[in-house]
Amino acid sequence: MTLIGEYQENVKETVNNAPESDKDTKTATKNINATEASKGRNNSEKVKCERAVYRCWKESPLVKLMIGAMKSAGCSLDIRRHISCEVCAPQVSGGFDPILNQVVICQNNAVDAGMVQGILTHEMIHMFDYCKNNLDFKNIDHLACTEIRAANLAHCSFLSAWLNGDTSFFDFKNTHQNCVKSKALSSILAARNISKLDAIDAIERVFDRCYNDLEPIGRRIRRNSLDMHRAFDEGYYYGYDDTS
Ligand SMILES: [Zn+2]
Repeated sequence: MTLIGEYQENVKETVNNAPESDKDTKTATKNINATEASKGRNNSEKVKCERAVYRCWKESPLVKLMIGAMKSAGCSLDIRRHISCEVCAPQVSGGFDPILNQVVICQNNAVDAGMVQGILTHEMIHMFDYCKNNLDFKNIDHLACTEIRAANLAHCSFLSAWLNGDTSFFDFKNTHQNCVKSKALSSILAARNISKLDAIDAIERVFDRCYNDLEPIGRRIRRNSLDMHRAFDEGYYYGYDDTS
């Protein structure tokens, strides 16, 4: 059973493929029409995406927690400057660009506010680590650590909350750790051209330390547990209303 559309993320590298020029006038005209059509589609996707980002920014307890955590860690955060809706490759739904210090939401692949919230929270964990924990994305152990944290805090925790109803505690613990490991693995493989074995090695090397590092969400989520449950019950978390 897949509860969440598994998405791949990537440190930004796929933006707007510019249409190639064409010598044949007929084809060129056709291309212009196609380009105009896709421009129109891109614009409406962008508007939808930005609305979803704005809604999460104002209403999502998780995103608001992350904004607060970033600010109190001295990492400034501005919705216009640090979040960008863009067109990405088909399988990429979001990413963090450490050079621009910007979270990218892939407007063509992130289709609703629930999904945008999941991506935003995940990428903001990377942004937090980059700002506060001196994350070096070139260091595979660092990358593994931040992916474990993002999977643990943003991705698998809601999955496990959902699973909690029909799994025993002991299964649940394993299920949760496996969720974090496999999510982290797919994120690392999407971001880096390394072998699966090397990625698994890196995950195992840092797992205990990074899995138990719940900063900044874990410490605060208890304080906000009522909010969280209310929001969770509303069913828009990660598109949980759509469990097909
Ligand atoms: Zn990630």
